[in-house]
Amino acid sequence: MNTSASAQITGLHHITAIASDPQRNVDFYAGLLGLRMIKRTVNFDDPSAYHLYYGDETGRPGAIITFFYWPGHEALGRVGPGQNTAIVFSARPEALGYWETRLASAGVATVRRVRFDEDVLSFADPDGIPLEIVAVADDARTGWGGGEVPAEHALRGMHTAELTVRVATKTERLLTEVMGYRLVKRDGARARFAAPGAEARSGHFVDVIGDAEARPGVGGAGTIHHIAWSVPDDETELALQARLAAAGHPVSDVRDRDYFHSIYYREPGGILFEIATAKPGFAIDEPVERLGEKLRVPKQFAAARAIIERRLPPLKAPDWHRIAVKA
Ligand code: ZN
Repeated sequence: MNTSASAQITGLHHITAIASDPQRNVDFYAGLLGLRMIKRTVNFDDPSAYHLYYGDETGRPGAIITFFYWPGHEALGRVGPGQNTAIVFSARPEALGYWETRLASAGVATVRRVRFDEDVLSFADPDGIPLEIVAVADDARTGWGGGEVPAEHALRGMHTAELTVRVATKTERLLTEVMGYRLVKRDGARARFAAPGAEARSGHFVDVIGDAEARPGVGGAGTIHHIAWSVPDDETELALQARLAAAGHPVSDVRDRDYFHSIYYREPGGILFEIATAKPGFAIDEPVERLGEKLRVPKQFAAARAIIERRLPPLKAPDWHRIAVKA
C-alpha cells in the first residue's frame, strides 16, 4: 500500500445536498441551470431516498452536484456553521449577464458582489441553498452544452467550495497538515486553499469561513449534506485513509458507491467529508449518451427494485417554467 506523502487529493469531487421536492430540483438544476442529469438512483444506505446526480457531459469530478430526497422528510433545515454553506459554480466572465437575465426570468433574485477580485452572482435554489456563479477567465472546463443553456454560458463545474465553521483553525489545520491543501489567500474571516495535486485554479479550491456568531446549521432539506474530495485511484484513497487515521481522525472503511469508492470522516467543525475516487465513473451501467434517463438501482437492492420504484415519486423531464410559476 502506498502510504507516502505523495498520495494527493486533486480537488473537488462532488457536493451532496438535500432537496424537499425532487421534481422542482430537476426543474431547477437540469432545467434552469442547464446541468446534465447524469444519474438517477437511490441512496446506497437507504433506498427509500432518491439520489439525483447532475454534472457535465460525463460527470467529471468537480462538476458533480447530487441531491438526496427522502419522501416524508421535506422539512427545511438551516444553513449555518458546521456545513458547506454554498454551491459555487464557475462560468465565463461574459456569461454573468446571461445568467442574471435567465434567473430573473424564472423569478430568482440575484445579487452581484466582488470577492477575491472575482465577480460573483449570488442567488438561492428553491429550498434556499445559497448558490453562486463566479466569473472565471482561466478555466478550461466546458460544462454541458447539450441542454437548454448554450455551451458558451454553461456552468463549468464547481469553482470552490465554502465551508463555514465556528472556529476555523482546526478545520484549516486538517486541510493543510493532513490533506495537503495550501493557503492561497485570506480576506477577513474567509481563507481560500488549493488542493495539493493540482494547480491553484478553478475546481481545486476550498474556502473556509470562521463564524462564531451565526446560529449553527441544522441538517434537512435546503442544506448541504457533505462534500467529497477527489483522488485518482483506490491506492491514493487508502493512503489518505491511513494518513487520516494516523493523525487521529476517525475514518470509515472504503464503501463501494458503484460509480466511485469512498471513505468518510467528520472534520473538527462538524462537516462530513468524503474522499471519492475519480474512477470508475458514471458510464459503467448506462452509455454516456443515455446517462440519467432511467432509474438505476444499486446491485444490492436489485431484488427490491419494483418496491423501491413504486415508493418514489415519478420524475418528468426538466422544465424550469414550473419554477417560475411557483415564484
Ligand atoms: Zn458523497
